[in-house]
Amino acid sequence: MVTPRRTLVLLAGWLLLAWPALPARAASSLFAWRINREGQLELRTSPNTLVRAFFQEGRPGKGPRVWFDLPGAPIRPRSLRGEGALVEVRVGRPDSQTTRLVLEFSPGTELDPRQLRLVGVARDRWRMDLRGVSRRSLPLVGEGDLDAPTVVAGGRGSRGGGFTPATITPVTTDNPPTARNLPAVPRGRFRVVLDPGHGGPDPGAVGIGGLRETDVVLDVALQTAQLLQSRGVQVLLTRTSEVDVDLPPRVALANRSGADLFVSLHANALSMDRPDVNGIETFYFQGGRSYELALSIQRQLMAVSPGTPDRGARPGRFFVIRRTVMPSVLAEMGFVTGEVDAPRLADPGFRQSLAAAIAKGILEVLGP
Ligand SMILES: [Zn+2]
Repeated sequence: MVTPRRTLVLLAGWLLLAWPALPARAASSLFAWRINREGQLELRTSPNTLVRAFFQEGRPGKGPRVWFDLPGAPIRPRSLRGEGALVEVRVGRPDSQTTRLVLEFSPGTELDPRQLRLVGVARDRWRMDLRGVSRRSLPLVGEGDLDAPTVVAGGRGSRGGGFTPATITPVTTDNPPTARNLPAVPRGRFRVVLDPGHGGPDPGAVGIGGLRETDVVLDVALQTAQLLQSRGVQVLLTRTSEVDVDLPPRVALANRSGADLFVSLHANALSMDRPDVNGIETFYFQGGRSYELALSIQRQLMAVSPGTPDRGARPGRFFVIRRTVMPSVLAEMGFVTGEVDAPRLADPGFRQSLAAAIAKGILEVLGP
């Protein structure tokens, strides 16, 4: 069952004409999808987009479910009846910023989430082997034009060609952190210092499109503070605006505060000639609780950042984590010079996810 392409092209033309009349909202970054003859799911998206993949086990009477969230919302949510192992495919709009492609499998379908990987095969192409499902039991369904030419250049930060096939997205079985699913901790018991790096005359790293580290980290820190406060955690910020604060006063504030934890937020940079270098890492100075906090934050940051390399929780000797007396870490939330990371760090919606990730990482360490 393949949707007639002409209808879709006509529809796309009509939507383009109708577009200025619609309220401002990001268009879906999902352009086309299909199950191919090899039993793979293929996606065509806008270049360098952020695709998140999720898996849910089957429940009594229900088969397993695999779904993908992409930025931008579809104009028209819809559902296609599948056949064989694939019961239904839905393209939905969980919120005004997101497209969700859902594959519902029949009860008894054996899918192992550890075997499911969404692989970026070009800037705008993705493929997932539906391993475990016989390809003969999968219908050839799809929507949109998968055969459109692959985008070679274009996309922020891309310099024409040179796609790095580093984008392998494992499926997540745990709900990614959002403002709504943060763990609870006893209210009024904990105090945390958040330290957005740089500020004022010191912009920190400056990357693709003039993206400034100071802006990214301040926004994420302010949002993290709000999330923690909503959970009854007292938060102290070493700065709340674009001012320059030296390192010793940051440490002094933290050490005076009697805080339980200290988290410094930064974004990495390499030369502008290295858009291929991306990834997230969290540093600690000493083992024990600092290491635990680094692991927790790193895990949550990776849960909202599929496709960027996991550089791990690692020892570091930064002044602010060396001199603070409480468990402390320094998180590098991505490369402002990286072609995968930079467009994400520039995206307010993604910074919201980063804040939820940091908050969850902190709350899990504070919690029981
Ligand atoms: Zn920095």
